[in-house]
Amino acid sequence: MNGTELRNISFHGIGTPDGPEREPDEHRYWVTESAFLRVLDLCAEQSNVRLSFDDGNASDAAIALPALQERGLTADFFPIADRLGTPGNLDHDALQALAEAGMGVGTHGAAHRPWTKALATDQNMELEDARARIADVTGRPVDTAACPFGAYDRKVLQALRTAGYRTVFTSDARPAHEGRWLQPRYSVEADDTPETVRARMLAPRSAKDRVVDRAVLMVKAWR
Ligand SMILES: [Zn+2]
Repeated sequence: MNGTELRNISFHGIGTPDGPEREPDEHRYWVTESAFLRVLDLCAEQSNVRLSFDDGNASDAAIALPALQERGLTADFFPIADRLGTPGNLDHDALQALAEAGMGVGTHGAAHRPWTKALATDQNMELEDARARIADVTGRPVDTAACPFGAYDRKVLQALRTAGYRTVFTSDARPAHEGRWLQPRYSVEADDTPETVRARMLAPRSAKDRVVDRAVLMVKAWR
């Protein structure tokens, strides 16, 4: 199955985070609103870019949604079930608004823990209960997932397949292909600009790069 090559680009918080970091390095993934809008303008010009937003920050609905709509774009959002309705995060109305605007809504798990560790004790909570709580709000089934912290191994992927997820998003900073079950993404970071996004995430891959991309992804999925 060799679909069209895609570049999946993911964002986290937009603007200035309210409080202390909820996990180490969190603020590294927050971008200013002006940087976000400039990167979004660049993405809007690319036919092979797909956008996503992790962690369910309130900025998903307050900033990202109107900016996407102004540009005629759609994106996938991956909220954390336990954080819905807590300060700084999407509440039920905001999550519903994303779904009603035609955005994809998947799951980023229950408690934002790496599934490589959490599934050993809390697989049902992370993969089933979290998706059910999100689906209750949107009124639509949740069949896409983004791995917290991009962490996965063979066992995590098997559990996600068994749970019936249609598409799984990671953060491997490699190109993806349309229609594949596993979708690597690039994460935009605090110091990114349209120029660095173009160089780091959108540049064409050489034949040699592609060999490395395939090998890396194969090894990661089989660990
Ligand atoms: Zn996350």
